[in-house]
Amino acid sequence: MPSHRLAKLEIGDLQILGYSVAGEETVVGIPQLDVCFDIGKAPDQLISIGHVLLTHGHMDHAAGIAYYLSHRKFNGMSEGTVLAPANTIKPMGEIVDAWGRLDGNRIPAKLVGVEPGFEHRVKPNLVARAFPVKHCRGAVGYCLLETRKKLKKEYRGLTGKQIVELKKQGVDIEDVIEIPLVSYLGDTQYVDYAELDYVSRSKILIAECTFFEDEHTDRAYAGKHMHIDDFAPLLERMENEHVIITHLTHRTSMTEAKKTLSERLSAETYKKVMLLMDRTNWVRRKRPAQ
Ligand SMILES: [Zn+2]
Ligand SMILES: [Zn+2]
Repeated sequence: MPSHRLAKLEIGDLQILGYSVAGEETVVGIPQLDVCFDIGKAPDQLISIGHVLLTHGHMDHAAGIAYYLSHRKFNGMSEGTVLAPANTIKPMGEIVDAWGRLDGNRIPAKLVGVEPGFEHRVKPNLVARAFPVKHCRGAVGYCLLETRKKLKKEYRGLTGKQIVELKKQGVDIEDVIEIPLVSYLGDTQYVDYAELDYVSRSKILIAECTFFEDEHTDRAYAGKHMHIDDFAPLLERMENEHVIITHLTHRTSMTEAKKTLSERLSAETYKKVMLLMDRTNWVRRKRPAQ
């Protein structure tokens, strides 16, 4: 029996598995990309993912880090790579070490401190780029960009033999093109993300919208979270094909949130939007016959 019942969405060939409720737990994994955004309380189903991209150190997003690392070791997996804001690395390392001492086993950890603009190659053709968000000190969001090499315009008419020859001579004959696949905002108050080109053009946007009700505007402001009043107009300016909303407060029901979204968004934008925890979108697979 797995530790969590996770949301399951499918977009193209990507599966998005996660759990997200404000203040309780947030974790969103994409196994095909080997990336987990935040780690929540470390759901069993996501331990095998090799990269954790932490947005900030709040407990609802980061509590599971020692468990994640320790269970990878326990299951004979490599230590995995954890990216996290640079200012969180020291306390994070201390927590992991302290758990290792309690457990009587050193927990191997590869913690990498990031600041906005930092890039880490996740796979040969996939880069994670950190960008600034507005929440607590050091907090970042991440964009996953597929990188493809393309022959420079001036070399496109050449034969294979000529290209090989130029490569031998060390001539730089290729341009690298970046295709933004997924952007994850983590926790953030309103920022005009439409101005960050690669975030705006990401095929999939995973964004927090914590508050949906008029009487919650002060809460959104105080906790540095997004309110529908800011989020709805922002989405209208974004170019994403799919938007997955996370981090909804437990004070608002899924039905109420969907109703508000349908009223506040244009029909075209509303079609792109899903709430991560809305079970009606979850992929159901038939169990094989026993
Ligand atoms: Zn949070
Ligand atoms: Zn937070």
